[in-house]
This record gives sequence, C-alpha cells and structure tokens, in this order.
Amino acid sequence: MPAGIFYFSLLEQMVKADKKISEEEIEELIRKNFKMKGLILADVKVIRMNDNTLTSGSSKLVPAAITTSGSVNEKWTNGVDKEEFKILQDYIDYVIKQISKEIMSGKIDIKPYNKNGKIPCEYCGYKTICGFNTRQKGNNYNYIDKKSKDDIIQKMKGEI
Ligand code: SF4
Repeated sequence: MPAGIFYFSLLEQMVKADKKISEEEIEELIRKNFKMKGLILADVKVIRMNDNTLTSGSSKLVPAAITTSGSVNEKWTNGVDKEEFKILQDYIDYVIKQISKEIMSGKIDIKPYNKNGKIPCEYCGYKTICGFNTRQKGNNYNYIDKKSKDDIIQKMKGEI
C-alpha cells in the first residue's frame, strides 16, 4: 500500500538574504527548500512514520500536518484516503494505456504542452532537431489545464 508520492529538487540550493545571517539560519532555510512536495496517505500513523519528529503542527519533511488533538489537519495536508489513492493509481494506468494506444496507432505528433503559457521548449536541448515551430502548418501546442486530484477522483468515480 503506498504511503505517499513525494519529490524534491536536487538542484544546488541558493539562499537569499538581505542581511547577514548565521550558518544555522542558512541551514534552516536550505532544509525548508528540501521539504518534499507531493501527496500523502492521510493517516496520522503514516504521517508520523514519514516524519518521526512530528507530534503536532506542520511537518518540515512532508506535505502534512497534525492537529493538537492528534488527527490529520486536512487544511495543511495534501492527502488522500486509501480508496482515493487507488483511484489515482487507476487513473495513471488509464492514461498510460491511452497514450500507448495512440503511439501504437501511429499518433506521434510533435505537440509540446502549453500550460498557461508555460512550455517545455524553452529549456529543451533538442529544439534544432525536432524543429517545432508554430508558424508551420500542423505544429500546435497541447493546451492543458492543471487538474486537481479532486477533479480526477470525481471523474474516475463516475466512470468506474
Ligand atoms: S523543442 Fe521539440 S522536443 Fe523540445 S520540448 Fe519542444 S517540442 Fe519537445
């Protein structure tokens, strides 16, 4: 059973300050930047297993918080229950199968995503090879909206 899915940046951390700060303060700021993002199983036991220093309040390691009475603080926790976790896993399977089917049927368009103007081509090292250019016929972005986990769960509940 998954306890969560997390990620954090491996990039070298830079700390900005407008005044001289101590080594400890720098370390604290760097640690903050390493707090993992993602989704956790909303269960106090699981949260405490992910962060064994946490009794109550927000975790410095994972996107979760526990109330003073010892329950999951839903407002500060990016979490789902077991059933919702399974639904999200099924959704990922469904999307992978859809993409695989499209590739197998020959659909291999160059169609980079465009999420509110944010595109991957900006930092891509293959620009000269792929030749994507919106001025050329047939070259279009795949405009996507950010789907929240709640939207996906609702959609999947209606389909399964
Ligand atoms: S430049 Fe080409 S390969 Fe790179 S992200 Fe854009 S479409 Fe994809």
